Amino acid sequence: MPALILDGVAIARHVYASLKPRIAALVQCGVQPGLAALQIGGNAASRLYVRNKVRACTEIGIYSEVHQLDADCTETAALTMLEQLNRNPRLHGVIVQLPLPPGFDVRRLLQSVAIEKDVDGFNWSNLGGLVDGHGGLKGLTPCTPLGVVTMLDHAGITIEGRHAVVIGRSPSVGKSMALLLINRGATVTVCHSKTPDLTAHAFRADILIAAAGRAGLVTADMIKPGAVVIDIGINRLPDGRLAGDVTFAAACERASWITPVPGGVGPMTVAMLIANTVTAAERTAGLRAPSAVV
Ligand code: NAP
Repeated sequence: MPALILDGVAIARHVYASLKPRIAALVQCGVQPGLAALQIGGNAASRLYVRNKVRACTEIGIYSEVHQLDADCTETAALTMLEQLNRNPRLHGVIVQLPLPPGFDVRRLLQSVAIEKDVDGFNWSNLGGLVDGHGGLKGLTPCTPLGVVTMLDHAGITIEGRHAVVIGRSPSVGKSMALLLINRGATVTVCHSKTPDLTAHAFRADILIAAAGRAGLVTADMIKPGAVVIDIGINRLPDGRLAGDVTFAAACERASWITPVPGGVGPMTVAMLIANTVTAAERTAGLRAPSAVV
């Protein structure tokens, strides 16, 4: 039987529906959640990502600002801008859109976002909270891994006791994903570019998560029949189309559940950014924030 589709657009819609009463409660307390994005330079793709985030804010009633700096601006100018955004009480979330132009110290900029406004969850305190096992210091967990876990939960897919294999070890995606799954009781194998025999590892996965950014890396023969396949990768093919890391059509014949690209993890990442912004606003307003995992 072909795999069932984990529809990120549909699940994100449920997330937004669950956020609406929380936003209404904030507005009743005189607080409208606010999110600012700092974009430095930026190609067409990252400008599109920022536009999608702004659109999601507008549709759900979150105030948003986009601050665009030229690619040749100084790092000091970017840091000054972040300081202003950190101080602005209108804003509960601040993000730095990645990637940055060459020459910028990504770590320094990301660490300059105030912890309580770090709705991307990239600040070391929030990442450290994942290591600690209790989520970020302020419960702000990186959006993409949080989106994946939310999708699994929504579909009723058990995480505890399963063997998850994550391909990719970047701090914001692969490593955070692995930590979140460990915290949820999965046994996790992390693979990367130096892993010999990726196929053998992947084939042992009950839940296989691809986050390498390599189109066609995960072929059907790497998927254990009945495995859940989550494709985080976003790749632009030579003909202009978007594709994940998984060969989708063939993988559908092996997997029990699978995420498409586009329309899988991407919309969930945006939804989790909005959820984290609402959580940050609730904390500022002194309302008891529910878990960020919807
Ligand atoms: P990244 O920083 O480039 O990390 C890629 C990871 O994949 C690295 O750990 C790398 O290993 C590993 N890798 C690369 N080639 C590999 C191979 N042939 N075999 C095994 N591992 C391999 O990228 P990222 O920021 O984590 O993002 C990963 C992908 O997810 C990208 O396509 C990105 O666009 C996408 N993404 C999607 C969303 C979404 O919302 N859907 C959000 C964020 C990112 P080494 O560490 O050994 O180099």
